Amino acid sequence: MTSNESQSCAGKVFLVGAGPGDPELLTRKGERILASADTVVFDHLVGEAVLDLAPAGAERIYVGKQPGHHELPQSDINRLLIERARAGRCVVRLKGGDPFVFGRGGEEIIDLAAAGVPFEVVPGVTAACAASAYSGIPLTHRGIVRACTLVSGHLIDGRCDLDWPALARPGQTIVVYMGVAAIAIICAQLVAHGLDAGTPAAAIRNATIGSQQTIVGTLADLPDRLAAAQLAPPVIVIIGEVVKMRQRLDWFGR
Ligand code: SAH
Repeated sequence: MTSNESQSCAGKVFLVGAGPGDPELLTRKGERILASADTVVFDHLVGEAVLDLAPAGAERIYVGKQPGHHELPQSDINRLLIERARAGRCVVRLKGGDPFVFGRGGEEIIDLAAAGVPFEVVPGVTAACAASAYSGIPLTHRGIVRACTLVSGHLIDGRCDLDWPALARPGQTIVVYMGVAAIAIICAQLVAHGLDAGTPAAAIRNATIGSQQTIVGTLADLPDRLAAAQLAPPVIVIIGEVVKMRQRLDWFGR
């Protein structure tokens, strides 16, 4: 880092997408900024190998964010970022995947904007793209689908309220983030709203890292297969005809 770079990032917050786990999938910009960090604030989805790219002397603050275990409430995280930036530090807020795809990145910088703290956002490879590439399932294969919809399957008070008629329309791929607990509801609702029970679906755990696991099934049997496999998070689910492409395109598993 040159002294110019260090000066330009002092007092600023960089919301950086860490990507899905493999450090080589971090952007070059993310890597450069991380190497200049004085403070790194990270959550549980950030791989250790990415964190290791910060200077050894940088302050590292874990703020959690596992489902059901929010180590630090969002308002406290926001306050922490503002306080460290105002102290003149170069602050990196590292988030798994992309900060703006189910990453609450907007919520974190809205307070920064209101407080007049300068910030930048660096995109990252989101789990949908990572899982798609590393499981050999092209999300928008021409001739099979014309759209791809990303949804959160996170249960709120035991409920998963998605726009089922829209999701059950044919010709699209659906990618479900945080959907393991709700997978039985999701598959049943899609079938109830008109999708064929034989529609292929795949669950991918730990996309892009050595321990990646993929379970392939259909809307009819994926919930049972997932329950039997007891996959620990993070798991992402891809639903749609494109899942069949995996038979020919799975390069990572081979
Ligand atoms: N901002 C992140 C998503 C955070 S929500 C992104 O852009 O990827 C957390 C969910 O992301 C997990 O429940 C899981 O569905 C998905 N996820 C994140 N990393 C993953 C990985 N390496 N493999 C599979 N799913 C992952």
